[in-house]
Amino acid sequence: MDYKTFYQRSIDDPQGFWAEQARLIDWQQPPQTICDYSRPPFARWFVGGTTNLCHNAVDRHLAERADQNALIHVSTETGTERAYSFRELHTEVQRMAAVLQSLGVRQGDRVLIYMPMIPEAVFAMLACTRLGAIHSVVFGGFASVSLASRIDDAQPCVVVSADAGSRSGKVVPYKPLLDEAIRLATHKPERVLMVNRGLAPMDTVAGRDADYASLREQHLEAQVPCIWVNADHPSYTLYTSGTTGKPKGVQRDTGGYAVALAASMKHIFCGNPGETYFSTSDIGWVVGHSYIVYGPLIAGMATILYEGLPVRPDAGIWWQLVEKYKVTVMFSAPTAVRVLKKHDAAFLKKYDLSSLRALFLAGEPLDEPTAQWIADSLGKPIIDNYWQTETGWPILTIANGVEKKPSKFGSPGVPMYGYRVKLLHEGTGEELTGPHQKGVLAIEGPLPPGCMQTVWRDDERFVKTYWSAVPNRQVYSTFDWAIRDEDGYYFILGRTDDVINVAGHRLGTREIEESISSHPKVAEVAVVGVADNLKGQVAMAFAVLKDPSEAASEAQALQLEGEIMKVVDQQLGAVARPARVRFVTALPKTRSGKLLRRAIQAVCEHRDPGDLTTIEDPAALQQIQAIVSAPTV
Ligand code: AMP
Repeated sequence: MDYKTFYQRSIDDPQGFWAEQARLIDWQQPPQTICDYSRPPFARWFVGGTTNLCHNAVDRHLAERADQNALIHVSTETGTERAYSFRELHTEVQRMAAVLQSLGVRQGDRVLIYMPMIPEAVFAMLACTRLGAIHSVVFGGFASVSLASRIDDAQPCVVVSADAGSRSGKVVPYKPLLDEAIRLATHKPERVLMVNRGLAPMDTVAGRDADYASLREQHLEAQVPCIWVNADHPSYTLYTSGTTGKPKGVQRDTGGYAVALAASMKHIFCGNPGETYFSTSDIGWVVGHSYIVYGPLIAGMATILYEGLPVRPDAGIWWQLVEKYKVTVMFSAPTAVRVLKKHDAAFLKKYDLSSLRALFLAGEPLDEPTAQWIADSLGKPIIDNYWQTETGWPILTIANGVEKKPSKFGSPGVPMYGYRVKLLHEGTGEELTGPHQKGVLAIEGPLPPGCMQTVWRDDERFVKTYWSAVPNRQVYSTFDWAIRDEDGYYFILGRTDDVINVAGHRLGTREIEESISSHPKVAEVAVVGVADNLKGQVAMAFAVLKDPSEAASEAQALQLEGEIMKVVDQQLGAVARPARVRFVTALPKTRSGKLLRRAIQAVCEHRDPGDLTTIEDPAALQQIQAIVSAPTV
């Protein structure tokens, strides 16, 4: 079937289309209603159906592929490598489920997972969905303040964590950050389950902390059946940054997500049972949820869980794994490719990559030189795909599993089945139908299966944030600018809001500003995202001090900059650390006091800041201009 017909059917007959896709997974009770959209914008998919994500990812493969690899863990940090067959994964997940039960976890409870890339993290996720508990994985690179706000929002009864992660050979202790986060949080989790990797010493809180290895020993023979849950039972929440300082808990369902992932593995990623999938993301991000853990396993594929850098021990490591495990589908981010690009392309040619069919890249714009370099070096199709934490699977890409279509450099592709993608005028909400018109990329409801159900415990915020951004229409806003060409390919032109994207990681400038403002010497600060050759964007901060003389000399300024960066590291994590903190005496604002972040950003990128008639104090912007034009210190 040609893709156009396939897509059109998903739009004209969503009930028929998704009823068919629903057959890709196992149901205990098949759904009665495919989509209930009686209360827009809240969509309920596969109503009446009962299923279980863990069953679909693990148990249902036991009949045919029990001894086949399911989870392959490789850590170039600790020098460990271990493969688990579906049978072994099933056993470990049941042990973990029994341990969680012994700590009081029941259906509907939240379990927060703050872990490095180790198998126990995957066992914990699968054990939660097995029990109908709702997991909330927090990226291990986040620090105590970020973690505390997520603990308060998710209100987990149990936190699963580990003594430490490791990055570039350096041990990164998790436990002190977790203890500090629990101290800061209002909600106190009853139990903390610790996996001890023997990397860092840990303080233990008596009565609260439990040791995973000892509890596992008590549950070696555990048999914990999957709990069948309604299709719209939440499987997890995953926090993502927005324009406010408070991250939003993106809530995902069970049935819709399982179907969406199964369908995407078939139509987009073209992964077959028995093959190996390698996504280089982290379980703390949405790509990790969808395409390290659930997607590949639902498709009966082995999935590689990799802890380490792409260039350690050398830039050939990923390709060595592709050869060794005969990886057929690979998923990474443009930033990682830009890191590899700094090394000899010969590293890619050293290994037998004949098994690999395609490399998918997502998370940030894929620039043409990067795409060209990796395409030439690998000699394989490079497939860009655009989506968000909120959607759970690609909005724009090429569905080569339906019809092979060429990719266009600079474009992630065309709308995926189920997504009613529109380009809308920012001011009027009017649909832009002509080619090359810039508009807000929006999606008309209902969002397809797999997309967020709501903001965790905050339906109002879901409606207000996502469905009220475009005037005169109730549509879902992606908060991205885009254009479409005459062939229907879309091009993403950046965010409409104050979210920035550093190395594929989404960060809210408000969160970073709040953290910097907590430094006692800072009166006010503006953080903007500035184009960067390696990371796509980096955060730049401009701070006004309560006492400007504190940064009078260059040495003082550098010292204070270091102090402020440390505050961000400790509160949010190094991922959120600005590339530079510069000191100014005033920030450019409108007469009504609104910070002109976009003008600051333009000046930092040596672009025209545009219309400045509303600026209160032009000297403030000139000061920033002088700083960024001066030779760097
Ligand atoms: P996240 O929710 O962290 O995955 O971030 C989603 C945002 O990253 C999107 O709204 C876009 O701004 C950006 N993004 C993701 N994938 C792409 C892509 N393939 N091309 C351009 N921007 C992308």
